[in-house]
Amino acid sequence: MPAAITRPTLDRPITPQEAAVIRATLKQAATLPELPHLFDTVDQLHAISRCGCGCDSVDFARHHPGVDSKTIGDGVGTTPTGGRVGVIVWGTEHGITGLEIYSLGAGDDDLRLPIPESIHLFVPTQT
Ligand SMILES: [Zn+2]
Repeated sequence: MPAAITRPTLDRPITPQEAAVIRATLKQAATLPELPHLFDTVDQLHAISRCGCGCDSVDFARHHPGVDSKTIGDGVGTTPTGGRVGVIVWGTEHGITGLEIYSLGAGDDDLRLPIPESIHLFVPTQT
């Protein structure tokens, strides 16, 4: 994600599609063991900004100053049109802070939320 790309402001609740992708990622591609309490927070998330490149990446308001977000879910999925994308759920032990979609072969115009059922754990050796 190049720093030159600005992140336009949003002010809306999480969409059902985003919530489904986050839940699927935490369930099918969690990178931390202790996540069950975060499931309950997903529907309350509020999008505050999105990625300016045109992809479906969004940031959520639940920021805790001084606490760095880390990867709590790291998966691979398929978009409705067949593109292969990576999906990262960012968060802290207190809450989810972001959802990132990036290309693993999908075109720039296909950086959409993957189909929740298609999400599985990212394995680095996979091509
Ligand atoms: Zn982007």
